[in-house]
Amino acid sequence: MTQAVASGQSGEDIKPVIAAIVGPKGLIEDPDALAPYVEDQRGRVRGRTPFVVRPASVEEVSAVVQACAEARIPIVPQGGNTGLTGGSVPFEAGREIVLSLGRMNRIRELDASNFTVTVEAGCILQQVQQAAEAADRLFPLSLGAEGTCQIGGNLSTNAGGVQVLRFGNMRELVLGLEVVLPDGRIWSGLRRLRKDNTGYDLKQLFIGAEGTLGVITAAVLKLFPRPREVVTALAAVPNPAAALSLLELTRSETGDSVTSFELMPRRAIDFAVKHVSGIANPLSQPSPWYVLIELFGGRAEGGLRAALEEALGEAFERQLVSDATFAESASQSAALWRIREAIVEAQKYEGGSIKHDVSVPVSRTPDFIAEASALVERLVPGIRPVPFGHLGDGNIHFNLTQPEDADTAAYLARWDEVNAAVHDVVHAMGGSISAEHGIGRFKLAENRRFKDPVELELMRRIKHSFDPDDLFNPGKVI
Ligand code: FAD
Ligand code: ZN
Repeated sequence: MTQAVASGQSGEDIKPVIAAIVGPKGLIEDPDALAPYVEDQRGRVRGRTPFVVRPASVEEVSAVVQACAEARIPIVPQGGNTGLTGGSVPFEAGREIVLSLGRMNRIRELDASNFTVTVEAGCILQQVQQAAEAADRLFPLSLGAEGTCQIGGNLSTNAGGVQVLRFGNMRELVLGLEVVLPDGRIWSGLRRLRKDNTGYDLKQLFIGAEGTLGVITAAVLKLFPRPREVVTALAAVPNPAAALSLLELTRSETGDSVTSFELMPRRAIDFAVKHVSGIANPLSQPSPWYVLIELFGGRAEGGLRAALEEALGEAFERQLVSDATFAESASQSAALWRIREAIVEAQKYEGGSIKHDVSVPVSRTPDFIAEASALVERLVPGIRPVPFGHLGDGNIHFNLTQPEDADTAAYLARWDEVNAAVHDVVHAMGGSISAEHGIGRFKLAENRRFKDPVELELMRRIKHSFDPDDLFNPGKVI
């Protein structure tokens, strides 16, 4: 028997109580209006919910959670619903209420001299980036969904993106959190300290917890000086091993100023040029692989550009690079980034794509790409691997386009089989089956297959001590 049934109450029963807490603006019940809250980003699952509640303050979140806890009604916290593992939507049974943070979107305080910003969980990532820039600061988290995803979601998935190499994951960008616990109590941990050794670092438990331990309502984020020089270049390389050597070289020769180092196979660029308007390959000679390199520097006079030119010159002599081009303006830089960002969209025009978000030690990335590609080519003859992404973090989006003229449904039916084979390779190399997207619902079984039993047991104990009745995002992560 489920807990909601055991308590004898359903979401419908407590709707009036919730409505009294949040008022008419805070409740969505029209079936059409509910639709975007119950379907995941890629349209893989469509759940059900009695209603969506949209509190406007931490006190309202606390009261809503307390009412749900008393009635034993489970909750799915939701941000921008851009997550890629099905963690942000309710199950088909329709028991969970969706708690959306979108109305809590205030920047509470930007303290430029402390290099911090205190924001509510419903702030859109881009809004925080812009607020930082207006104060001559940088908030470095950067990813494709930044115009839609929210800080609470970024925290709860420990989001990565394209600047992790230099600035770290979301986990490394946080000083404090405010969280509503599963019993409705508020933990006010909005500390703005760089140093605080007063016991367990509880905030880290909520980061990457995907809404299973509490609702994050606000956070203190780290800011950095805004870069004065940004250098963007596209380099053609013969293979991933050369790309890796180039990464080592550029990091060493530029005072570790590399912020992004994105690997792209020729196939990805061909797809992008063919299918996405406004994309062109600026390098005339075809190459099997490319890297998009970006560096941030603190001084405006071009020293970093010279350093990267020198490093690329040396790489050219060592035959690590066959060609390269520099962006001469912000718009040329944006054009280079558009190639990278168009890959996922372009792949859609080539049919079905079986996806992986994996990591291995950076030094093993070339081995992983070679071994996993050979494996899937044996499994599905004619398959078209498009391994791309964050080489600097050892994080490859190992996405596999269907063979030309294959039946898309039959190809996608092999998703789990192909995932399992690729994940075995990842595991054998000491890697992770989810580098930056989390576990949610879709990667639950695979995570169970690989995670150390001791680690799983500790995770279950932590979950139980925070949420003994399993009311926060049940059935996700563990
Ligand atoms: P949601 O999808 O709403 O939620 C994600 C999870 O967090 C769910 O489990 C949800 O229950 C929980 N949650 C949300 N808000 C809260 C809260 N306030 N308190 C507690 N739990 C909460 N991810 C990367 O890491 N790197 C990338 O480069 C990247 N690129 C992407 C590009 C595109 C085009 C898209 C669509 C997605 C991409 N993602 C990427 C995945 C996604 O954007 C991130 O996971 C993002 O951090 C999710 O934020 P969100 O607000 O949409 O969260
Ligand atoms: Zn990514």
